[in-house]
Amino acid sequence: MERMEFTVQGSAAIPYRVTLEKGGTNLNAYCTCAAGSNGQYCKHRFRILSGNPEGLVGPDPDGLRVAVDWLEGTDVESALRDLIAAEDHVIAAKKVLTQAKDRRAMDVAEQSFETSKIELAKARKLLAQAMLK
Ligand SMILES: [Zn+2]
Repeated sequence: MERMEFTVQGSAAIPYRVTLEKGGTNLNAYCTCAAGSNGQYCKHRFRILSGNPEGLVGPDPDGLRVAVDWLEGTDVESALRDLIAAEDHVIAAKKVLTQAKDRRAMDVAEQSFETSKIELAKARKLLAQAMLK
């Protein structure tokens, strides 16, 4: 089992610690933030595995490349990809909603937007589960 640690500045004064553990195709990711500690989705682990340096205190961005490499071929990779697709759906549905011209189009768009948000919540839950098994 290989192990890697990141320090991420979130909303709290003390930075959070994101820990990755990799063994074969299994990847686990832990975060010390409130959501992460409760086994829920958190953006800190999502960002690290997406190669996004936002909030990263250490190690340097080279460490992020290793994290993204570790993701490849793991059980978390597909869950992460599904989540990104679900986020895109929410953005697209929101755009359709803001462009709806009449009441009927607005109702349809609103329904679609609500459905996409439910799908996003599911994708986040599945990603959080995949990171802990
Ligand atoms: Zn977190």
